[in-house]
Amino acid sequence: MSVDQPKVLLVEDEPAQREVLRYNLEAEGFDVAAAPDGDEALLLVEEVMPDVIVLDWMLPGVSGIEICRRLKIRKETRDIPVIMLSARSEEVDRVRGLETGADDYVVKPYSVLELMARVRSQLRRVRAASVGQRLEYEDIVLDSETHRVTRAGEELKLGPTEFRLLSIFIEKPGRVFSREQLLDRAWGQDIYVDSRTVDVHIGRLRKALTAQGGDDPLRTVRGAGYSLG
Ligand code: CA
Repeated sequence: MSVDQPKVLLVEDEPAQREVLRYNLEAEGFDVAAAPDGDEALLLVEEVMPDVIVLDWMLPGVSGIEICRRLKIRKETRDIPVIMLSARSEEVDRVRGLETGADDYVVKPYSVLELMARVRSQLRRVRAASVGQRLEYEDIVLDSETHRVTRAGEELKLGPTEFRLLSIFIEKPGRVFSREQLLDRAWGQDIYVDSRTVDVHIGRLRKALTAQGGDDPLRTVRGAGYSLG
């Protein structure tokens, strides 16, 4: 096993599905740890510290949603991307899954190739963020090392809070973040900030991003929060 072989924790109670996924993940070069239920999964997270978690929603005992919630409130595990698998295709369930902090959501029955692509994509994002690379969304480029943001090649003027907000969004385009999640990630848990403050800074970020005439890339999702794209 090579040192930089990425580790995947696979949590799925159905043995046949678990084995198909394990086979495919190993064929992709991942080091796979598998758990059949939530309790085992929580133990393995500590032991393995996986790079990505593929998590079934419907599990005996602790549900996938609950596991995800627990992982996302802990500082040590919150940055591990979680791809939630679910037989629930309703929009409300998808939003609920993502609100719990899941980074991606795949509806069963899924294509194994599609799921592998999602796993690779999550892995690329965490690696890009950890080495301070440039993150891009359409014509917006954020350099986390130099703290510069450009749109269509023109440098944008962002305050530190707007920069942090954009960093959160650009790592996960399309992902809806609630005001509480944005408060927690951009301001930290220790400071008391009113959730309307989030709206104010989102407004400033919007203004900065569209200052040179481009389309507004930020989406307001009624009752849920905000997303980039
Ligand atoms: Ca299941």
